[in-house]
Amino acid sequence: MTDFDLDNIMAQEGYIPGVPAWGVTGDYDGDAELCTNSTCQMCGHKGLDIRPFFDWSAQNYKAFAECPQCGSIKEI
Ligand SMILES: [Zn+2]
Repeated sequence: MTDFDLDNIMAQEGYIPGVPAWGVTGDYDGDAELCTNSTCQMCGHKGLDIRPFFDWSAQNYKAFAECPQCGSIKEI
């Protein structure tokens, strides 16, 4: 799965990249920290990038961890 695919798939489900500026997504800080401390299961790279998405109509938050080295993505 690539960045482009993830954005497209999430867009079809009503999600847009990012988190609200007012920070209703209480999980984000913890998820970001989790990513920073995670190791990629595909290539062993330490430190993953968080890819947050937000559904504005449902006020629903989802986040994925992306490996900056091999591009592997998994939902947190
Ligand atoms: Zn990796």
